[in-house]
Amino acid sequence: MTSIIAVDFDGTIASYADGWEGWDVVGEPIPGALEFLKALHKAGHRIMIFSARARAPEGKKAIEEWIVEYGLDDIIEGVTHEKLPYFSLIVDDRAIRFEENFRDILKFILKFRDDYSPDKLKEYHGLSKKT
Ligand SMILES: [Mg+2]
Repeated sequence: MTSIIAVDFDGTIASYADGWEGWDVVGEPIPGALEFLKALHKAGHRIMIFSARARAPEGKKAIEEWIVEYGLDDIIEGVTHEKLPYFSLIVDDRAIRFEENFRDILKFILKFRDDYSPDKLKEYHGLSKKT
């Protein structure tokens, strides 16, 4: 059965080892990413890129150019920053799978150490103080 699989960009299929360097600065493919995307497509699934980078026109353009550069334009249907209701599954380096067990998720989060601070994110993305 065909599903629409939403795939994150930074840190999932494109290297994000250097962190945020601007809307139009994107990393090389993570090893295995191109093969993964091609195998998904071959298995009959539809693929969309779901990335906050696509929130800005220059970020969306950078992802679209990356897709063309790596020959994926025939297999990736689009790029969006919106979580769309028809996504069947989401592949993301920042996600935790919820399986009706909040205890394990809480334990994981409490141990988690991050290099993204809210202040840094505001600086990167120009987010308001409310976000
Ligand atoms: Mg990511």
